[in-house]
This record gives sequence, C-alpha cells and structure tokens, in this order.
Amino acid sequence: MALIDLHTHSTVSDGTETPEELVATAAAAGVTTLALTDHDTTGGWDRAAAVLPRGMRLVRGAEFSCVSPTGRPATPGDKATVSVHLLGYLFDPEHPAIVAEQRRLVAERVERLRKMARNVSADYPQLDADRVFDLVPEGTTPGRPHLGRALVAAGVVESVNEAFAGILRTGSKYYEPKTDTPVERAVEMIVEAGGVAVFAHPLARRRGRVIETSVLADLARIGLSGVEVDHPDHDPADRELLRGVAAELGLVPTGSSDFHGTNKTTPIAAETTAPDALDELLAKAAGVDVVEGA
Ligand code: AMP
Ligand code: FE
Ligand code: FE
Ligand code: ZN
Repeated sequence: MALIDLHTHSTVSDGTETPEELVATAAAAGVTTLALTDHDTTGGWDRAAAVLPRGMRLVRGAEFSCVSPTGRPATPGDKATVSVHLLGYLFDPEHPAIVAEQRRLVAERVERLRKMARNVSADYPQLDADRVFDLVPEGTTPGRPHLGRALVAAGVVESVNEAFAGILRTGSKYYEPKTDTPVERAVEMIVEAGGVAVFAHPLARRRGRVIETSVLADLARIGLSGVEVDHPDHDPADRELLRGVAAELGLVPTGSSDFHGTNKTTPIAAETTAPDALDELLAKAAGVDVVEGA
C-alpha cells in the first residue's frame, strides 16, 4: 500500500531527527514516498538519498519562507501581508536565484534568532544568548524551535510548545521579524528551476492570520501547482473549503504530516497524499528526479 508524506523536517532545519534518522523513522512507519522539505535549504538531500531503503522513494524539496498578500484590504488590525510557507519539490538545487535566496534567508534567520535570544535573555538571564547557537550546527537553517529548545534546557519553559504559546509567539515582546521572499517570486523561482510549487498549510489559523483563498487563485495563474489540504493545523471545515478551491482552480490537493520530530507532537505520515495526486505533481516536475531506494 502506498503511504505518501510530502512535508517533513530534519535537523538540517528545525526537526529533531537527522536526515538519516528521518528516513529510518519513515521506513519503520511504512512510508513509501517521503519528501524532505527543510526550511530554506537543500542541505539534507544527499544524506537522505544515501540511506534510502529499497522500495522507498524520496522527493527532494524545501519549504520556502515567504511573505504573501492577505487578499484583504489593510486595516489597523490587519496588515496587507502575512508570512506564509511555500513547498518546492524537485527543483534544480543549483539554480542561481534559489541558491542566492536561500543563502540570504538563512543569514537573515541567524541574525533574527540572535536578536530574539538577546531579547529573551534580558528578562530571563538563565538563558545564555551566546549558547543558543550551540544547538544549531553549521549548515543548519535556524528557527524559533531552536530557541524553544534552549529555553527548555535553561528551565525557562517546560516544552517547546509552551515557548511558542508565549515567549516565541509572533507578536510577543521578544519577537523579531525577518524579511521573507515575496511568494509570487518564490513560485516563479521554483518553476524556473524545473520544480513544482505547493502552498503549505494555507489555513493554519492557530499560527495567526491566514490568507484569503483568492490568493491561491492569483498564484495558480503564475504557476502554483498544488495546495496542502490535509495538514495537522487545518480543521475539518477548512479542509473541505480547500478541497473545493483546489478542484475549482485545478490545483493538486496534498496531505502531509509536517513532521518535526519531538519539536512537535505529530507523528510521521499522520496525514498523507493520494497516489494519483502525487503522480500529477511528479508529471509537472522537470528539475531533479525522484530518488528510488536501491
Ligand atoms: P520560524 O521559522 O523561525 O519563524 O519558526 C516557525 C517554525 O516553528 C515553523 O516552521 C513551525 O514548524 C515551528 N512551530 C510553530 N509552532 C510550533 C510549536 N507549537 N511547537 C514547535 N514548533 C512550532
Ligand atoms: Fe518548522
Ligand atoms: Fe510550514
Ligand atoms: Zn514545515
């Protein structure tokens, strides 16, 4: 039976399992097609491919940090833009625009996490801001979950979840923004690099403000191929809404766990993609191949 999980993270970004461990976890869960989609990096691709067991397929991808129009007019309580995530699959990892943008985003994330760590340690001196990057090996995309783990280690909070509910929350007094890629540009870059673009968790409302579905229509016109429908952060009503929008716009509906190891509670393959949806996505890709375990 096919078991397809198209959105997972390793220690190359903010997951807690190495790419090798992630592949083993997926194999143990019976996953037949796994996509590795670390934030703003392709750094885990070769490591995952190297340990792929026979019978498993690896779809190499990344999750791009983007900024999108909300699709609503700006009001005092609602800016006109919102931070969103875009999944890119099977793009050429050496495409110059992608290489340059990923490098810029990682540098931006390093600086921003350093600032947040300093902001927090001013109020919680138990946190040694200079040690936060001990948890972020060279070549890793840093994110708030790394600071969350440092806060747990320092005894400031009991869990990463608790950190996200307070100190790390978007808009908390410790929060620092980063400059993400315009989502329209990210779609174009992925397509130029032969990849396919899928809008990640568009209605993940518990993370904050979300887009109107009219934005998906605008992106579909410039090359968006799919939309994540079944995602742990989507409630049943929003899944139905998105399934309808996807059908209407000709977007491929996907389902994924967004596995982050122990940084989140969702197990791998908790949500999955239908085999025909995967085939439709793969048929659009012209960058790198799917890796077959041997
Ligand atoms: P950043 O990319 O640095 O802005 O941090 C956001 C990341 O934190 C996202 O990739 C999420 O996967 C992750 N995240 C969001 N909420 C939580 C949570 N409650 N626990 C753990 N990780 C989370
Ligand atoms: Fe993440
Ligand atoms: Fe995401
Ligand atoms: Zn993700």
